[in-house]
Amino acid sequence: MVEQEKYEESHLYRIRHSAAHVMAQAVLELFPDGKFTIGPPIENGFYYDFDLPRSLTPEDLEQIEKRMRQIVQGKHAFEKAIVSAEEAKKIFADQPYKLELIEGIEKGRLDEYGNPVNEKPDISIYQHDTFVDLCRGPHVENTREIKPDAFKLMNIAGAYWRGDEKNKMLQRIYGTAWEKADDLKGYLWKLEEAKKRDHRKLGKELDLFSISEEVGAGLILWHPKGAMIRVLVEDFSRNAHLANGYEWVFSPHIGRAHLWQTSGHLDFYKDGMYSPMDIDGERFYAKPMNCPFHIEIFKSHLRSYRDLPRRYAEYGTVYRYERSGVLHGLTRVRGFTQDDAHIFCRPDQVEEEISRALEFSLYVLRSMGLTDFKAYLSTKPEKFVGDPAKWDTATEALRRAIESHHLPYEVDEGGGAFYGSKIDLKVMDALDREWQLSTIQFDFNLPERFGLEYIGEDGQPHQPYMVHRALLGSMERFFGVLIEHFGGAFPVWLAPVQAVVIPIADRHVEYARGVAKNLRAEGLRVELDERSERMNAKIRDAQKQKIPYMLVLGDNEIECGRVSLRVRDGSQENNIPLDDFLGRAQDRILRRAAEL
Ligand SMILES: [Zn+2]
Ligand SMILES: [Zn+2]
Repeated sequence: MVEQEKYEESHLYRIRHSAAHVMAQAVLELFPDGKFTIGPPIENGFYYDFDLPRSLTPEDLEQIEKRMRQIVQGKHAFEKAIVSAEEAKKIFADQPYKLELIEGIEKGRLDEYGNPVNEKPDISIYQHDTFVDLCRGPHVENTREIKPDAFKLMNIAGAYWRGDEKNKMLQRIYGTAWEKADDLKGYLWKLEEAKKRDHRKLGKELDLFSISEEVGAGLILWHPKGAMIRVLVEDFSRNAHLANGYEWVFSPHIGRAHLWQTSGHLDFYKDGMYSPMDIDGERFYAKPMNCPFHIEIFKSHLRSYRDLPRRYAEYGTVYRYERSGVLHGLTRVRGFTQDDAHIFCRPDQVEEEISRALEFSLYVLRSMGLTDFKAYLSTKPEKFVGDPAKWDTATEALRRAIESHHLPYEVDEGGGAFYGSKIDLKVMDALDREWQLSTIQFDFNLPERFGLEYIGEDGQPHQPYMVHRALLGSMERFFGVLIEHFGGAFPVWLAPVQAVVIPIADRHVEYARGVAKNLRAEGLRVELDERSERMNAKIRDAQKQKIPYMLVLGDNEIECGRVSLRVRDGSQENNIPLDDFLGRAQDRILRRAAEL
């Protein structure tokens, strides 16, 4: 929420808010009988909702935009005035939506006995040029601050008055506005690029995954090429976990109602869980989280202080209810696999464990080609469970870990969950979009609920600190991020097909088979394109599939026992020894390099 507050104080926010007013003016000039409702700034721009006599067309948008350009150049000042409700009602006499809003403001000023709290409710309005709006501001000084070449109307959508489908459907115009023309250009480029990189589109084109109506919404089918990438990511990450002191565990997909009662999920998380299934007269639930299972593993032995820390990691598949309207490709699904871990440790280990967890998280993410991070620290809210002193220890450990890793960060003071403070790690992708991936979250609730303990040096039982930790978050969502970050052009080590061997004519197929066989024997993922297509068509197809390397073989190559290499980035090397190519490819794979 810190980001939002900062945004609301920014000049850009004022520009967008002011552009919304200018747009409303232009729309009402075009439709003198039109009714206007509300129009706030939003991320990247603004919108305004209108009740108009007819549907807007793209031509209308052009005309409105043109008129807006004239208006902004007029250098009209935005002037604020405070008026009484009566005056406001006069100003907006022919604007029923504004009248409804004014009444709302008036009502809000009555106390619980229906007595007015303030005899003269002050209502703030803003005027520029001929246009007056009911508004709290803030705005720019004058319309010139909205640069005519730095805004654009984007599209028209339907929206119910006050978001209630029982109300009238209005027409919403979305616009975008920036401080300068270059910012607008950059934003539009990113939008275009984002469309091209949409993981749902690339998922189909590259045959990575699908969602089948037959199986159900929000449930992902990983095709062989997508699954290959997942296997590579999982293998890399599992090995890294094992090398970093984690113990791998597996747990079932369902658990008894009693377990979810103890964990509190049935009291506090039921809306996110699916209906129970009946097994021999007992209720079982598909797991929405892995924590209770790892806790049961911890509880399977009496633990001494010498046994700690314990770090249990699992690729745990969980099922959570999401409304069908919010499901989105890989990034919002109903079943997904977390790279989940739970750390149980002593108070004197907290600092080190958190620092290690963060270090490890950064290592894994960097290995995946993500390098731009921002941390968010959420601290103790007003309502919380557990010992405040433990909260302080936890929060300080989180803060010090962020600082010692020199990460830019923001603190959401009081924004933590009731059960513990946490770090969220957001990653910027190639289009500067923020994705929240890693979380390191303390828990002072579950250890209590499950009665977790270890025997301390003093021979007495103590409660361990418990930390939930996910690095990539959900495999599905992370895959979506990866696809969009790389635009489907995965680095060599992750590419499902690393090289395609292309014989120029039928007489070269035999030699090509031998080359493919040799490369496969060295562990490369190689396809042989034996189709009787023209060479250029084969290269074009391989390029479309974003395969890093294309090995073209013809008479010349066979004669000198070499290969010609075409690289995905367009570069080319003729007649090189196969071993040279192999060495290059293996080097890229070993280093998980971005370059080809
Ligand atoms: Zn306003
Ligand atoms: Zn957990």
